[in-house]
Amino acid sequence: MHILVTNDDGVTHPGLLALVQSMQQVGEVTVLAPDRNWSASGHVKTLHRPIRVRQTELADGTPAFTSDGAPSDCVALAALGFIEKPIDMVVSGINPYANMGDDVTYSGTVTAAMEAAINGLPGIAFSLDSPLDFPGVKDFGPAANIAGQIVKEAAKHELPRNTLLNVNIPFLFLEDIKGLRVTRLGLRVYRNELVRRDDPYGRPYYWIGGEAPTGVPEEGTDIGAMNDGYVSVTPIHMDMSAHDYMDEMQHWDWGNLGG
Ligand code: MN
Repeated sequence: MHILVTNDDGVTHPGLLALVQSMQQVGEVTVLAPDRNWSASGHVKTLHRPIRVRQTELADGTPAFTSDGAPSDCVALAALGFIEKPIDMVVSGINPYANMGDDVTYSGTVTAAMEAAINGLPGIAFSLDSPLDFPGVKDFGPAANIAGQIVKEAAKHELPRNTLLNVNIPFLFLEDIKGLRVTRLGLRVYRNELVRRDDPYGRPYYWIGGEAPTGVPEEGTDIGAMNDGYVSVTPIHMDMSAHDYMDEMQHWDWGNLGG
């Protein structure tokens, strides 16, 4: 199995290295990751400037490609032929913070897996639910171990078209993780605050600040699983249509347009 590894925190991030080393136990690995941090960059398609790619190596000497494109650009480049050998799976991460509920369309980690799905490849995003204010060096080892197990199992099944997997892993020792739950997206509670300040010329600028998001730890959701100490695997479909609401909308008064 030929696995493409990317991330949104940049090619030098330790979460990427941990995922690469884990994937090397599962198959042949190619790395193509951004040359800088694209966290919360959303699903990007770079069309109005050239994208450059160069060769580099990870901290353990593993050869890697890095580009000045977004995570989703890295996946598109690889899928469209920059990587000549056919890719069997795309994995993204390990992001140092959880990507749950409404985070998924903001997340560069998850949108890389979305880009895989759009290109007809199985894509899996991995995120570690570590606290924003964790002091010291984070151990991505347990999450990398779990990523290996999940990729091996996912490889045995054909993911449906336009479907990706979003995995969140509790920030616990391996032996303290209670198990795995297949979940749906939960409800994030953002605590954003608009911060307005003046620049040195007296002109206002704005910053989206505030505290880290919380969430509703409802049973059956990704947020609930994190809250209970379980690995969360959420299958995500790229069809965002509100199917349930289509019937209701047939009853709206569309005037002349309704026929
Ligand atoms: Mn990130």
